[in-house]
Amino acid sequence: MSSLFLTTGPKVRSFEAALADFLGVAEVVGVSSCTDALIVTLAALDIGHGDEVITTPMTFSATSNAVLLRGSRPVFADVDPATGNIDTEAVRKAITGRTKAIICVHLYGHMCDVAGLRKLAHEHNLFLIEDAAHCVDGHRGELRPGRVGDVACFSFYATKNLTSGEGGAIATNDSSLAERLRSLRSHGLDRGVAERHRESSYRHWDQLYLGYKANLTDLQAALLLPQLPGIGRRLERRKEIAARYREGFKGIPMIALPEIEAGVESAYHLFTIWVPAEFRDFFLTELGRAEIGVAVNYRPVHLTTYYRRELGFAPGAFPVAESIGSRTVSLPMYPGLEDKEVDYVIRTVIEISERVAAADREPS
Ligand SMILES: *Cc1c(COP(=O)(O)O)cnc(C)c1O
Repeated sequence: MSSLFLTTGPKVRSFEAALADFLGVAEVVGVSSCTDALIVTLAALDIGHGDEVITTPMTFSATSNAVLLRGSRPVFADVDPATGNIDTEAVRKAITGRTKAIICVHLYGHMCDVAGLRKLAHEHNLFLIEDAAHCVDGHRGELRPGRVGDVACFSFYATKNLTSGEGGAIATNDSSLAERLRSLRSHGLDRGVAERHRESSYRHWDQLYLGYKANLTDLQAALLLPQLPGIGRRLERRKEIAARYREGFKGIPMIALPEIEAGVESAYHLFTIWVPAEFRDFFLTELGRAEIGVAVNYRPVHLTTYYRRELGFAPGAFPVAESIGSRTVSLPMYPGLEDKEVDYVIRTVIEISERVAAADREPS
């Protein structure tokens, strides 16, 4: 609070450089949220009215809302039943003459088929945007978010693997795009407050584009910077917890788990199990009663009231996403979780599944 800038200044610069270094990309631009990262990105790529953007319905609504808020049309493509990630072949079928970009989401921290999507985007002259809100620390072989896509968007929202309560970032290897992103996060001005401050005498600023107010602040960057060195250690702990869950649920007929594809190091932002749809809400209630924090990631976006009403979606449109959405339960996953707590969760889930199975066998 006693430093000079508070808003976008040297702390943001340091954080951007450190995150770019971690990801192995040329540029990072700090913004106020992942939602704004997506909106500013679409604006920087000149995607707006009349354009279509293909994305997944198995995501938080921010992804497709960003498209709508630019006046563009989100076109959903169904997902892979094993991972819940957008299906490259379904994307191919959804391409039209108006398609401008693909936004893939690295669901739960498991990186999508970025090579296949890149190839497809290249063939059809589309931009590839990664919604990497779940995947700041995951990778797929050598590939991290931002290395294959034209841009990757990150979230530092309260629940994410890196957090400043609220915040976000955009990673890209394209320096001229980064310059446009920097301008568009601050009203479309020709230079930011930190650059203006460095100038020896007053020069008038100019507005080049119609931009947004979406800049990351030094206050947020000061919270984010000290978290970067421990990112590998925290991911190791998440992996241990995931392995313990996987081992614990082995052979339990009612519990299915999303697949981790070969070569993928998941960021394990979330750990979800898939249970039979007819018992899912019972699992949620009973886990809640056992004082275990649960969530649903996600019921598919196209079936929310707004998307049904305004875009005309109905059940059956994306059957794989709908099936996952009806079966998913997110279990506790954070580095501070202790082994005995993980074991308690496993025991409780198995007990619930046994009660459900026993009730199911009873003649009615
Ligand atoms: C959290 C999240 C967002 C939105 O992030 P904000 O920083 O809150 O705007 C976007 N996409 C996905 C997949 C998310 O999980």
